[in-house]
Order: sequence, then structure tokens, then C-alpha cells
Amino acid sequence: MRHFAVVGSGPAGFYTAEALEKAYGDRARIDILDRYPVPYGLIRFGVAPDHQSLKAVSKRYDKVAESASVDFIGNVSVGGDVSVAELLELYDAVILAVGAPNDRKLGIPGEDLAGVVGSAEFVGWYNGHPEFADLDPPLGGTHAAVIGNGNVALDCARILSKTRHEFEGSDIVGHALDALDHSAIRTVTILGRRGPHQIAMTPKELGEVGHLEDAVPVVDMADFPPPEADEPLEPGLRKSVTLLRGFADLEANKSKTMVFDFFAKPVAIEGDGRAERIVVERTQLDENGAARGTGETYEVPASLVITAIGYSTPPLQGVAYDERGTKFLNDSGRIADRLYAVGWARRGPTGTIGTNRPDGYEVADHVVADMPAGSAGDRAGAGGLKRLLESRGVMPTDYQDWRKIEQTEESRARPGCPREKFVRVDDWLKTLGR
Ligand code: NAP
Repeated sequence: MRHFAVVGSGPAGFYTAEALEKAYGDRARIDILDRYPVPYGLIRFGVAPDHQSLKAVSKRYDKVAESASVDFIGNVSVGGDVSVAELLELYDAVILAVGAPNDRKLGIPGEDLAGVVGSAEFVGWYNGHPEFADLDPPLGGTHAAVIGNGNVALDCARILSKTRHEFEGSDIVGHALDALDHSAIRTVTILGRRGPHQIAMTPKELGEVGHLEDAVPVVDMADFPPPEADEPLEPGLRKSVTLLRGFADLEANKSKTMVFDFFAKPVAIEGDGRAERIVVERTQLDENGAARGTGETYEVPASLVITAIGYSTPPLQGVAYDERGTKFLNDSGRIADRLYAVGWARRGPTGTIGTNRPDGYEVADHVVADMPAGSAGDRAGAGGLKRLLESRGVMPTDYQDWRKIEQTEESRARPGCPREKFVRVDDWLKTLGR
């Protein structure tokens, strides 16, 4: 019997477990570990609450968790309660699927002022991540800015722009819904350091912001090249750029605006003890397509600044780390003997949820190549892990515990909302009678 530990229960972890289960059948036990008693990682804490169809992929993960060879072991912090080296003693292979939960830093003056928050913090706040339950982002000013031109920036800008009514059917947590409902923000400026042809926003997500109830997107056509320059673009990007161009035809007859400010590189955030404005430098593209400052600067007012410029994987003791790439140092998912990485911890923070499926299957193939199905293993697996945790006073949770939490969250839901999430670890544990 082989014993595998998958660390992290987000999409990458679940697809890897699914692939291992298919490859080994009942000749392996696969444990999916998570630091929280609730699974799904990015699906629960990252995917926007008004994108329920994307969140529905967790139903597929439920099937994996319910299969005979797979167990969910929650409430265990790898790197805290147990080390990677200890897991390698207990398991034949350890697959790190810990994602990239940390915000990358801009590295400009004023970044640490109150009112400047990373997208992981802001997204975590409205999605019920316990670390960010108390974030309390300042929503009392009329201007906010989001830095970055990816889908996360768009998520943040959209959430700031929606009406309470537009959150119906979503699972945004109550504290965020109430705060956003009382928000004074009327202008959200999205700052892109490059131009419309360099955005990382996808058409479906961009299309949505053209149909908001009380907010209208605004673009400046002077930022766009002539329309014929769109022709050579990859079809998805061309569609996104066409949507952006279309925003110029929308009437600005709503109470909020979402301003797309291109060729705009933040150089400082200023304010008296808290963010009040961003100093932005105009850019132009150099011969390599990078943003080069022109020296011309201007100010964008913002009492809330959200940086949405990408994420990084936190280092884990004893695991080689690629400082430049913000992920574990790995070769096609192999980190070291019997130690692998998948998902954002392997590739860096790019790609959609679906990208993790081939990624997880590929790494599972490496595991199979390294220890073919049917080969013997003599590790202790979950039994050994649980004994070790018990000796340290750590009480893990299992999949049935998660179902109890889930049912309680569903029973607390307000009308039209699938669940009201608990936002504190203590509340999860209380649900389990602990
Ligand atoms: P992303 O797509 O990599 O976008 C990051 C953005 O930040 C880029 O526009 C980048 O500009 C900009 N940026 C980086 N460093 C900067 C700096 N120092 N100053 C100013 N701007 C800077 O990352 P993401 O938005 O975090 O998304 C991560 C992944 O999740 C992506 O693959 C995304 O598509 C996916 N996602 C998908 C959905 C969805 O499907 N609904 C939702 C959310 C996220 P440059 O291009 O100039 O570097």
C-alpha cells in the first residue's frame, strides 16, 4: 500500500488526488491536508462570490473526497503542526498544493499606509477568509483605485461597484455585504501600467462590467491604437479589447464609474497617515513591450487602494524556493526525491481553475513513474500522522466534519444566498462541538 499526502485542498490538490486515485485505485491511500477544517482553498476564499457557477466545481471535488481511497484531514498546518520532513517520513510522496496566498508587493513609497490593501486581503475579506475577517477596508471616501490589469483587479473593481441587489444569489459574507452597501465610493480607477493590448482580463469577466446596475465603465480612446491593430491579437485578447472599445459608447448615466486608466504606473502612494492619492507616472511601451516611465506624473485620488498585481507562495522550511519566481523551485513539478509541487506553487500564480487539472494529472504521472502502481510501500501514512498530531495536542478534522460545517452554513443563509459562511476558525470548531 502506498501513502500519499497532498498538502492543500484547493483545485490543484483535488485534481492531483483525483489523478492519483485513478492511477492507484485501492493500492494507495491519499490524504488531502488543509490548515483549515474547510476545504477547496481558492474556490472558497478566492473565486468571486458572485461567480457561483465557477464555485460549483467543488461538487466534483466532493466526489473525490468521498471516494474510498481519499481522506480529507483538516485543521493541520504543514510547516506549523507538522513539517514537510516529517510528512516525508510518514508518506511515500508529498505533493505541495499550497497555492499562492500572499500578495506581491509594489515596492513603492507609501505602500504601507493605512487604506492600502492587497487583493488577497480584500478578496479574503469579502469571501470569509478568517485571516482577513477584521480587515475593515475604508469605504467612506468617494474614490478607490485598483492597481493591476488582471482578472483579480476586475473582480475587486466589480465587487466595489455592485449594488446590494446584484449580490443576490452570491455567497458574499454578511459583514462585507453590509459594508459595501453603505460604501461612499463612486469612482473606482483601475490602473494598468501598460495598454489595452496588454491586459490580462478575459472577455467574460470584462463583458460583465458593461452591464452593471449602477456603475458604468469608462475608457479613453486616446489610449487605444487604431482598430486594425487589433487584428493580429490572439482571439480571446481581441475580444477583450473589442469589449473595452465598446465601453466608449456607453452613456455615463449611472451613479458610479469604473475608470480604466492605461499607461499608468503608480510611483508613490501619499496621504496624511493614510492613503489619499496615488502618484502615477505616464508610461509608454519600450521595444520589448515593457512599461517605461515618461517622466510625466499626475495624481489619482483614492482613500482605498487595492493592489492586484499577483501572488506568491510562502516559503516552507526545507523546501527549495524560487525567490524570483515566487514559487517552489521545481522541475516540471519535481522538487526533490518524493517531494512534488502542483498548481500555483509549481507554476506561479497564473491560469484558471481548469489549468490545474492537466497540471495535477501531469504531476500524478511523475509520481506513478517514480513509484509504479503495485510497488510496495511501508510508510505509516495517516495512522502515523494522527499519532504524531495527537502527541502535539492537534485535533485534525475530517470530511464528515466539513459536511457538518457546510450544512450549518447553509442553514444560516439569508434568502437568495446559498450559505452564510463562518469567518472565524473558532466558529468552525464550535460547530463541531469543540
Ligand atoms: P495576472 O493575470 O497575472 O495580472 C496581474 C496584473 O498586475 C497584470 O496586469 C500586471 O501587469 C500587473 N502588475 C504586476 N506587477 C505590477 C506592478 N509592479 N505595477 C503595476 N502593475 C503590475 O494576475 P491576477 O489578476 O492576480 O490573476 C491570477 C490568475 O487568476 C490569472 O491567471 C487570472 O486569469 C486568474 N483569475 C481568473 C478569474 C476568472 O476566470 N474569473 C478570476 C480571477 C483570477 P503587466 O502585464 O504589465 O505585468
